[in-house]
Amino acid sequence: MKTPERFTMKVKESDLVEVIAGKSKGHRGRIKKVLPLTNRVIVEGANMIKKITKPTQRNPRRDIISLEAPLHRSNVMLVCPNCKQTTRIAAKIMPNGKKIRACNKCGELLDKA
Ligand SMILES: [Zn+2]
Repeated sequence: MKTPERFTMKVKESDLVEVIAGKSKGHRGRIKKVLPLTNRVIVEGANMIKKITKPTQRNPRRDIISLEAPLHRSNVMLVCPNCKQTTRIAAKIMPNGKKIRACNKCGELLDKA
């Protein structure tokens, strides 16, 4: 059996992604944060949870706040800024040897060369 090529080109902060699984399925938003240790990302407005804050000296009240819970990387897909479709990320090797992320569907480069 052929082992699939390791998927190394990943989403980055401020990429536009679509959630493809879970309660926020279909939601599109920008990545606020990448958590490399857990392979998770925080997507703006997706996977919202309510949290009760602990009283602190500065703010002794308990407040209910909404915040984004991290999503696993495999549950989001990049949205290409050019063709607006969800796509896997292709790697393009530039003449200078640099790897640039590109849309797998329309070939649009996603990073500056
Ligand atoms: Zn595209």
